Amino acid sequence: MAGTKALSEPQKALRKLGLGRDIDLALHIPLRYEDETRIVKLRDAREGDTAQIEATVTDCQVQYRPRRQLVVTVDDGTDTCVLRFFSFYPSQQKALTAGVRLRIRGELKGGFAGWHMVHPTYRPAGGELPEALTPVYPTVAVLPQAYLRKAVAGGLERADLAETVPPDAPPAPGKATAWSLRQALQFLHHPTPEVSLAALEDRSHPAWLRLKAEELLAQQLSQAESRREHDALQAPPLKARKGGLHEQFLAALPFQLTGAQQRVSGEIAASLARGRPMQRLLQGDVGSGKTIVAALAAAIAIDSGWQCALMAPTEILAEQHFRKLVGWLEPLLSPKGLRVAWLTGSQRKKERGEMQQLVASGEAALVVGTHAVIQEQVQFRKLGLAVIDEQHRFGVEQRLALRGKTPEGGEPHMLMMSATPIPRTLAMSYYADLDVSTIDELPPGRTPVVTKLIADSRRDEVVERIRGQLAEGRQVYWVCPLIEESETLDLTNATATHEQLGAALPGVLVGLLHSRMPVAEKKAVMALFTGGQMGVLVSTTVIEVGVDVPNASLMVIEHAERFGLSQLHQLRGRVGRGAAASACVLLYSTGDAGRLGETARARLKAMAETNDGFEIARRDLEIRGPGEFLGARQSGAPLLRFADLATDADLLEWARAVAPLMLDRHPGLAARHVARWLGGKSEYLKA
Ligand code: ADP
Ligand code: MG
Repeated sequence: MAGTKALSEPQKALRKLGLGRDIDLALHIPLRYEDETRIVKLRDAREGDTAQIEATVTDCQVQYRPRRQLVVTVDDGTDTCVLRFFSFYPSQQKALTAGVRLRIRGELKGGFAGWHMVHPTYRPAGGELPEALTPVYPTVAVLPQAYLRKAVAGGLERADLAETVPPDAPPAPGKATAWSLRQALQFLHHPTPEVSLAALEDRSHPAWLRLKAEELLAQQLSQAESRREHDALQAPPLKARKGGLHEQFLAALPFQLTGAQQRVSGEIAASLARGRPMQRLLQGDVGSGKTIVAALAAAIAIDSGWQCALMAPTEILAEQHFRKLVGWLEPLLSPKGLRVAWLTGSQRKKERGEMQQLVASGEAALVVGTHAVIQEQVQFRKLGLAVIDEQHRFGVEQRLALRGKTPEGGEPHMLMMSATPIPRTLAMSYYADLDVSTIDELPPGRTPVVTKLIADSRRDEVVERIRGQLAEGRQVYWVCPLIEESETLDLTNATATHEQLGAALPGVLVGLLHSRMPVAEKKAVMALFTGGQMGVLVSTTVIEVGVDVPNASLMVIEHAERFGLSQLHQLRGRVGRGAAASACVLLYSTGDAGRLGETARARLKAMAETNDGFEIARRDLEIRGPGEFLGARQSGAPLLRFADLATDADLLEWARAVAPLMLDRHPGLAARHVARWLGGKSEYLKA
C-alpha cells in the first residue's frame, strides 16, 4: 500500500499475537516477573534462587571437558561464583577478563559445593536499580522480550484507560473497583517488589480482580445488548384453549407428570403466551422426561392455530419421537383434520413431497424430523414453535435457519432440550439471552444405575454378567468407539466385538448398529431391539442420544477412556429407565502406556462417583475448561482471558447486575467499555 512502510518482523509478530491496538498491548499481562530491584550478596543467597549479584571477574577460561564451555569465576566480596556458558562468542571471552565488574542475574546452584550459574544474563555493574519488578511477557521467538517490553510500555502510556464503570455502580467484590483500571494495569505490568507474588499468580490481587471485573462487565454488556435486541422481536402469543388439544392431552396422559415436569411446563406456557419469541433451554438429566413436556408445548401452539416443528439430531431418535408423538397426539388431532408429518433426509422423494405439501398447507400441525425440517424447500404455513432436541448437537446456524421459517416477519418460539446441563456460571456468561428451565427430578420407580470400572483384561467377567441379565429377560447395550480397524488407533472395532459376542452367546440375537449402515438396515436392527427380540445391541455411539428401551438393564462401554464425560453420562442414561436394577460397565484399556492419562482417569472417576448430571457437568467443566466445554460450534463468543468462571462467580454476579444499569443510564460509557474490550469482536455475540 502506498504510504505504508513495510512491517518489520517484530511488528508482524505483534499483529499475529493480536497486539495491534494500544489497548491490546496494555492488556497483554506478564506471564511472570523478575526481581531486578535488589542486589543480593552471595553470602545471603539460597540454593535455587534466581538472584541478581554484582561481582568482579577473577578468572576466565575455556574448558573442554566434559564439553566445551566458557568458565568465568566472579567474586562479590562475600563469596565466589562460577558462571558457565556452553555457547559463547570469542568476543564474550575477551570482554570477561579479570577485573571487570558485572551485574549478573541467574539461578544459583551449588551452595556448599561452591555457587555456580549456567547461562546467566549479565551487563556492566552499576547503573540505577529499577523500582518495580520486571515483567516477562508471553511472546514468540521473533519477538524479543526487550522489544515487547517497550511496545507494551508504549501501549500502556497511550491507551485510553479512562474509567467506564459508572460511579453509581455498586462496588465490586474483593475491592476490585477500589483500583482504577489505569492503576490496576500499571501495577500488573510493573508491580512493586513487596507485592505477594502468590496473589499475582493466583489472580486474587485487587489489581487482578479489577481487570477481571472489567472483562466480565464487557461480556455481560454485550450479552445484555443482544438480549434487548431479541426482546424487541415479535412472536405469536400462544395459549391453550379451553377444551382444546392441550387440555385433552393432559387428561389422556399415560402417566402422572412429576412435580418438576409440571413446573417447567408452567414456565414454558407463560413464555409462549407473551408476544415475544421464547428462547428457552429445557435441561434435564437423561430419562427425566423432557419429551412429554415438549409435546405439551406443541399442544399449546396447535391450540392457538400455529404449527410446531420438532427436530432431533439423528434419524433414529427423530423416528422414536415421531412414533411417540403420533401415539399421543394423532388420536386427538385427526378428528380436527390435522396430522403429524415426518421429514427426513433418507425419505423417498415422493413421500417427502407429500409431507412438504402437508406442512405448507398447514394440515400438518406438527412436523417431526431430522435437520431435513429446516431445509429451504420446506415451507411452513404458520410455524409458531420449534423444538430442538439434544440442542448441544446443533450449530448456531441451524438454529438461525429455523428462525427464518415463520412468515410475516415474526419469529417462532424456540424450545431447546438438552441432557447436558449448562453450569449456571456458564449459562450466565455465554447464554444470557436464553431462559433456562430445569427438570431436577426423575419419574418415580427408577433405580439408580450402578457404575463399575473394569479393566479390559477382565472382559470374560463382563460376558458372564451379560448372560445373567439375558437370563432374567433383560437386554444389553455394548458400545464401541470406532467402526473400523484403524491403523493408528488400536481400537477393537464394533464388527469384531459383534462377532465375539455372537460366538460367546449362542442362541442370543446379537445385533450391530453403526453410523455407516444404510438407514433402512439401522431401523430394522433398532426395531428388533426395541421389540425385545434382540438380546444384545453392539453399536457405535449412534445410540448416544435419546434412545428409550426401558427393558435394557446393562450398558457396557468399551474403551471408555476414550469417551468424553458428558458422552459417557448420556450413554449410561440409556439404562435405568425401567424399574429393574441397572448397571453400567466402563471397560477401560490402559494401552501400551500401562496406565490411564490424567484426564481419562478423572472422567472415569467422576462417572463412578456420581449419577447426577449436574455434578457431571460441573466436573466436565473443571476437567476441560469452558472453551472445550462450549465447543467450537456453540460459542461464537470470545472466551474469557482473565476471569475464570470457576473462581470468579462473585465478580460475574456483579457484572450481571451492573450491565443493565449501565445500558439504561450510561449508554455512552457502555459502548466505550464494549469497544475497549471486544473491539470488532462483539458482532460474534449476536448469534
Ligand atoms: P429424556 O428427558 O431423556 O428425553 P424421555 O422423555 O425420553 O426422557 O423420557 C424417558 C422415559 O420416561 C420415557 O419412557 C417416558 O415415557 C417416561 N416418562 C416421562 N415422564 C414420566 C412420568 N412423569 N412418569 C413416568 N414415566 C415418565
Ligand atoms: Mg430425550
